[in-house]
Amino acid sequence: MKSKSELRIAIIGGGIGGASAANALKAKGIRADVYEQAPILKEVGAGIGVRPPSVNCFKKWGLYEELEKVTARSNLMEIIQGDDQVLIRETWPVLTGDEADAYARLIHRADLLDLLVAHIPEDQLHLNHCLTEIIDHGNYVEVKFENGKTIEADIVIAADGIRSLVRNQVLGHVEPVYSGYLAHRVLIPFEEALGMASEENVLRIYVNGDDSFYLLPLESRRQVSVDITVPGEFALRPVLTKEQIMDSFRGFGPTLQKIVENIKLEDIVTRPLSDLEPLSKWSTNTVTLVGDAAHAMLHNQGQGANMAIQDAEVLAEAIAEAVAGTITPAESLQNYEEQRKPITKLYQELSRLFPTDQAKTAFPEKTHF
Ligand SMILES: Cc1cc2nc3c(=O)[nH]c(=O)nc-3n(C[C@H](O)[C@H](O)[C@H](O)COP(=O)(O)OP(=O)(O)OC[C@H]3O[C@@H](n4cnc5c(N)ncnc54)[C@H](O)[C@@H]3O)c2cc1C
Repeated sequence: MKSKSELRIAIIGGGIGGASAANALKAKGIRADVYEQAPILKEVGAGIGVRPPSVNCFKKWGLYEELEKVTARSNLMEIIQGDDQVLIRETWPVLTGDEADAYARLIHRADLLDLLVAHIPEDQLHLNHCLTEIIDHGNYVEVKFENGKTIEADIVIAADGIRSLVRNQVLGHVEPVYSGYLAHRVLIPFEEALGMASEENVLRIYVNGDDSFYLLPLESRRQVSVDITVPGEFALRPVLTKEQIMDSFRGFGPTLQKIVENIKLEDIVTRPLSDLEPLSKWSTNTVTLVGDAAHAMLHNQGQGANMAIQDAEVLAEAIAEAVAGTITPAESLQNYEEQRKPITKLYQELSRLFPTDQAKTAFPEKTHF
């Protein structure tokens, strides 16, 4: 499709937020160039639930059929005390009359990113481009990369994650807030979940005191995404022994402990869990933030990627108005920010609650959106 946009749009970061923004703009016939520091685009980590409002975005981007192919439909999530006492058993919210909208779609983050990246035109994806400096001239932006290249853009979309350099240089430095928790994450074959993961694609969260143990089935891979969250000392890349990991959740039942005993230490990725305080400002006249750069949140609501996907659609709709000439580019960024900020702020706050404190708020979409 020929682009109808004369605006030069640069997206910094090719994660789920940046790749979503590129697809959302493409669906509206607007060209955007994506600049990513890594030599290849790949996600690490875990399984996620693509929630119904995000599924709707994929429909708008013409990617619904493909999403359906690589995801499994989940109609429930459970929070379980110990090995078997179910505290919460809740369906995902139905937001429309369409029965297909009653499900979240479970997928590995890597598979979701692959799907999004596959639809970014090759000439618009620039790998090995690590932004080092951004100068906001008020009506255009200059962006410098480590590889010596400099570009100019009319709009810069910062999708460069929780430690966003764009945000820090243009809107002021913001330091992430450490939650006091570490997450140990690993993918295991389905059989090694020893019957604790659901065959019916139910997301199960086992809880014990301050600790939680997520088992998210990934049907198409016959794997289970394991995410164990426990209190721990901050380190950017924590290195723990197997004994330290086992010690940190001794209170869980014997079957959950057996699952971890069977996991190879080198397969476990441990990360500190940090978020941002809600920011007062996301945009200048030419630069705006999406995804974790704007509103990184803890994983307790499973909303980080979902918010990035939904940001992308709202931003693309706003930029489409600027392209049509009904508002200025600066107004489009402002409108996007005003629309998204209250929602993401709410999720940032809810995501700081531990799963068991979320009984009434497990699905804010049911009451808020
Ligand atoms: C293990 C795990 C499980 C999760 N589970 C869920 C879930 O169930 N549901 C959910 O909704 N969310 C979940 N999340 C959160 C979700 O994945 C993130 O919120 C989401 O990926 C944020 O996307 P992003 O594109 O904004 O940022 P990121 O994914 O951090 O991407 C930023 C990109 O910018 C690039 N970049 C950074 N700096 C520069 C630079 N200077 N120049 C160029 N490029 C740069 C990076 O290389 C990266 O590719 C999970 C996260 C993790 C880690």
